[in-house]
Amino acid sequence: LRKPKIVVLGAGYGGLMAVTRLQKMIGVNEADLTLVNKNDYHYETTWLHEASAGTLHHDKARYQVKDVIDNSRVKFVKETVVSIKKDEKKIVLANGELEYDYLVISLGSHPETFGIKGLKEYAFGITNINAARQLREHIEYQFATYNTEEVKRDQRLAIVVGGAGFTGIEFLGELANRVPELCREYDVDHKKVRIICVEAAPTALPGFDPELVEYAVNHLERKGVEFKIGTAIKECVEDGIIVAKDDVMEEIKADTVVWAAGVRGNSIVEEAGFENMRGRVKVDSYLRAPNHEDVFIIGDCSLVINEEINRPYPPTAQIAMQQGITAAKNIAVAVRDQGEMEEFKPDIKGTVASLGEDDAVGMVFGKKVMGTKASFMKKMIDNRALLMVGGAGLVVKKGKFKFF
Ligand code: FAD
Repeated sequence: LRKPKIVVLGAGYGGLMAVTRLQKMIGVNEADLTLVNKNDYHYETTWLHEASAGTLHHDKARYQVKDVIDNSRVKFVKETVVSIKKDEKKIVLANGELEYDYLVISLGSHPETFGIKGLKEYAFGITNINAARQLREHIEYQFATYNTEEVKRDQRLAIVVGGAGFTGIEFLGELANRVPELCREYDVDHKKVRIICVEAAPTALPGFDPELVEYAVNHLERKGVEFKIGTAIKECVEDGIIVAKDDVMEEIKADTVVWAAGVRGNSIVEEAGFENMRGRVKVDSYLRAPNHEDVFIIGDCSLVINEEINRPYPPTAQIAMQQGITAAKNIAVAVRDQGEMEEFKPDIKGTVASLGEDDAVGMVFGKKVMGTKASFMKKMIDNRALLMVGGAGLVVKKGKFKFF
């Protein structure tokens, strides 16, 4: 009898969770299990703001995939997925092809630039290890170069962050801590440095409790961040951005522009022809793509509606991991053709946004938290994600233990 082939695309939060569960649930004789990922490492997407600012070395934010999977059970393929031919049940890789009977798509997100001119060309993104490393180096280079020039270009020391959502705020928190270090290291006057955050919405951290928003904004302003709220980026150019507030245009000169204002599902999902909204597929309650019972879509490529407010849940690692567990259970049911599939219900334990090493804001189990307590909780959340995928050993190796 031919064994079914289970293929998981992407070793991020969702994909790794699904694979580490499937390797325990499915026997060697029941199915073949393959994991495809672009790199031989997994990175903690939720830590990339730290690696990008240079407050955490990027090696701390990644680990080898082979260290957390059962290599006797899972075939790991280090390859780039090029396309998904869903009607032929085939995956096209940069080098080769794979066939599947059951597929898990967990390829994460791409930046959503809303068609704003110049962003793709000139702005940095906080998207993966390569991008984080490049952004960190770029910022450091500006500081290193500043004093070497006869005519000082202050715009070298201007950093624009597009977006005061979760990612933007977390990056600003790290940057506000990193800048004084850079000033000391390169003999740069702190007063010359500008960190400007531009947000089109009427508030920073949209969706957060107003008291938490105020706390976060005050904290960052005290550390020198300028906020331009209700202000839209109209265009990104080689040496800065053009913004508009109430139809008044302004040009901000800056050699570093970082776009942190939204994501869409991986474009491979769109190109595969699944019905989608900004690259996210509205999956059924078992996490399957519409009309494709053999394809499970999880993480940032999926869209799940929060019935209470009739709006999609924001894409988070928390949901991606929970979906990975449900997808694994449901695939086990499908492979065995036995038992009942589980409906996916997100269990939102809380959301905490860090404001640098030692401060944070958020909601945990329905309660507001701020300051060192919130920061402690954030680190516990980060450590829990490691524990769930790689066990205590991984927490010891990569965990965050500097609490106060
Ligand atoms: P990812 O974890 O991004 O994994 C996708 C994987 O697919 C990657 O390993 C990638 O290399 C691989 N891949 C992509 N394309 C290809 C290809 N073509 N071929 C092969 N492999 C490919 N969420 C929270 O819950 N809490 C937080 O505090 C939080 N903080 C965040 C902070 C930042 C700075 C950012 C950027 C995001 C944050 N998020 C947070 C959101 C969270 O990171 C994402 O929702 C989560 O990573 C989604 O998981 P995923 O499995 O869908 O994708």
